Amino acid sequence: MSIAICPGSFDPITLGHLNIIRRTSRIFDRVVVCVMYNSSKTSPMFTVEERLDMVRRVVAKYPNVTVDSSSGLLAEYARQFDGAVVVKGLRAASDFEYEFQMNLINKKINPEMETMFLTSSGKYTFLSSSVVREMARYDGDLKGLVPDEIIDDIREKAKQWRMR
Ligand code: ADP
Repeated sequence: MSIAICPGSFDPITLGHLNIIRRTSRIFDRVVVCVMYNSSKTSPMFTVEERLDMVRRVVAKYPNVTVDSSSGLLAEYARQFDGAVVVKGLRAASDFEYEFQMNLINKKINPEMETMFLTSSGKYTFLSSSVVREMARYDGDLKGLVPDEIIDDIREKAKQWRMR
């Protein structure tokens, strides 16, 4: 059985992430979406539990996709899945440079781990979680940026932020 791991911080999950997850689910028998929370990104908008809950809701329609979380290194996390391939999305040249470097480090930690890249779908190349957070902060329209099911969660969180 072929297994893919789609890692990310998903703070929050966007339609760009979902596009990569959906395409990966067509290529591999099983996909594990892993919410990583070890990252250097400080003060996330959502807690890990909230991110997990949102990701679970939006991928529920894909029968071969499951959701997990990890606070460790991706290269260590991947060891538990025999022969799993990490699948990541590439938006721009800047993503490439970062991912290339990460891949070299991951190979040092876990030489068995392979990483594959899917190029971002044209309409999502501009889209990132930080764009969504910025839009939400100013009460912008989130339709077309994130899955409809989680728009209210983001609006509610942004409202709490503004009241702080
Ligand atoms: P972000 O950069 O939005 O904070 P993450 O750290 O959660 O996202 O990234 C997880 C993975 O999803 C990375 O491989 C990243 O390149 C990919 N990704 C994020 N946004 C998009 C997008 N709009 N199109 C394709 N891939 C994306």
